[in-house]
Amino acid sequence: MNVFYHPLYSALPLPAHHRFPIDKYRLLHQRLLSDSQLSETLLLRCAEPASKEQLTLVHTPDYINGFIGGTLPASAQKRIGFPHSDTLVARTLQSVGNSIGAAYCALEHGLAINLAGGYHHAFATHGSGYCIFNDLAIAARELIHQEQVEAVLLLDLDVHQGDGSASILGEDTDIITLSLHGEQNFPRLKQRSDYDFPLPTGCDDTLYLDTLETALNLVLRLHQPDIILYNAGADVVAEDELGTLSLSLEAVRQRDTLVMSIAKQKNIPLCCALGGGYQRNLEQVVDVHWQLLLSAYHSYK
Ligand SMILES: [Zn+2]
Repeated sequence: MNVFYHPLYSALPLPAHHRFPIDKYRLLHQRLLSDSQLSETLLLRCAEPASKEQLTLVHTPDYINGFIGGTLPASAQKRIGFPHSDTLVARTLQSVGNSIGAAYCALEHGLAINLAGGYHHAFATHGSGYCIFNDLAIAARELIHQEQVEAVLLLDLDVHQGDGSASILGEDTDIITLSLHGEQNFPRLKQRSDYDFPLPTGCDDTLYLDTLETALNLVLRLHQPDIILYNAGADVVAEDELGTLSLSLEAVRQRDTLVMSIAKQKNIPLCCALGGGYQRNLEQVVDVHWQLLLSAYHSYK
């Protein structure tokens, strides 16, 4: 199991009572190392931080330089949701670099997971909702640009719509966006993905899993992508403090296993990013993200 990680993921100093559960990455990594079964097949990796050239595949030079140089207007920094710091810049470039690295790794080995990433609210010109640079959109364009693949599916199962990805990739005919999300969740103003499945508040396991299976099989039949970039957001569970859906922990395991079994059966490389997950009880958030690693272990061993 190829897993990308860097200690910077959780190293970000945030103001007291900040709602982002920054420590979840460290705790998930720790649990992975201490699990006797999963750690046996674990190949821990780390790629180079994203280069400016890679960021430019998606973002405008003004935004890239403004963020890195710490000169964004206060309103733009506020929309991101994290205060500017050198650590934030380093963490951002590292985690985007690791999503790109995981995408290449998936092409080579079939499956790779970045223990961060899924920054789907980042637009070409600005960040939003804890997302700065859109890692999976960058990875998708990088693979196309480097002629590694001809078609990419960006599968977004975070509870929030991938509005940034939809906006960035709207004209890209070789990158297909598919999003299942809470209809009533942030962002209020949705963008148009290639395939959107807005789900009602309180959506249960059966409706969710049936919708996913139908949607994914349909899109794969129509587009035959060479790789799937998967945002495995953990904010779909009933206990999530921001999500409006009501999935059980077991359904999250079934969701991740479904994606993996379909990808494996069709021989499509799969690159996973963690996405969101918001509960004050960090162990519970880690439990939800853990389902992705468990599913990977059982699906690909
Ligand atoms: Zn989310």
